[in-house]
Amino acid sequence: MNWFSRVRNAMPFIARQDNSPDNLWHKCKACGEMVFAKEFEDNLSVCPKCGHHERIGSAARFAMLFDDQLWEELPSPVVKEDPLKFRDSKKYADRLKAARAANVGNDALTNALGRIKSHKAVVGVQDFAFMGGSMGMAVGAAFIAGTERAIAEKCPYVIFTAAGGARMQEGILSLMQMPRSTVAITRLHAAGLPYIVVLTDPTTGGVTASYAMLGDVQMAEPNALIGFAGQRVIEQTIREKLPEGFQRSEYLLEHGMLDMVVERKDLRDRLGSVIDYLMAAKAAA
Ligand SMILES: [Zn+2]
Repeated sequence: MNWFSRVRNAMPFIARQDNSPDNLWHKCKACGEMVFAKEFEDNLSVCPKCGHHERIGSAARFAMLFDDQLWEELPSPVVKEDPLKFRDSKKYADRLKAARAANVGNDALTNALGRIKSHKAVVGVQDFAFMGGSMGMAVGAAFIAGTERAIAEKCPYVIFTAAGGARMQEGILSLMQMPRSTVAITRLHAAGLPYIVVLTDPTTGGVTASYAMLGDVQMAEPNALIGFAGQRVIEQTIREKLPEGFQRSEYLLEHGMLDMVVERKDLRDRLGSVIDYLMAAKAAA
């Protein structure tokens, strides 16, 4: 923050304006270029200079996905909070409070019901801004609620993954969300409904090891980091240098782990076609 902003912020009687110099520009994390914030936003938070796909939250995702920008946000299931009364450098309860105060939602996974290219769909979006998108009981419960709503609505469940892994503050209870979410997907399949995964940057750890890799169709945004363990951990374990672009969408596509890499601007159309195809196949069956 520059001197001017600091002084201005210290004087509450000065009217705040959204077009203050700090908010006018966006600096790309990949190429470092400065872009007008408005231009960046209009470009779906993708850098117009280098194509870097910035991480986005659930509201922005829903707005660019659903027909007429209309959707119904589904309620977050209530779960027991902080069951282990965990603390490291901070109390887990305080970390939760801080994440909620930052206004990114009640927990890391938010579901919404709407239409994509006129096809009904329940869409879940994991928000990396909420404690690294980590999977705890709330995320597991929201995932299950999303699949259950999809079954009730007889429509697909689409999940946008983003996570640093399981929420370690919940210990074994976070890891239990791996089999729980897997069972929920089995139920969706038993109802003959598609489960579609869109991997976004970054998707790692227990999320990759469970519901992020079980899609009927596996999509990813360009250059997203996707993996289980981190690159350095793997290099130290196998004592070998890993290839260029390892754990990125394009590398995973080349090695058969993904069906397609789709740019953000094309996601809505592509999801529409995939749902159209899969639901037509279900109707024919
Ligand atoms: Zn850039």
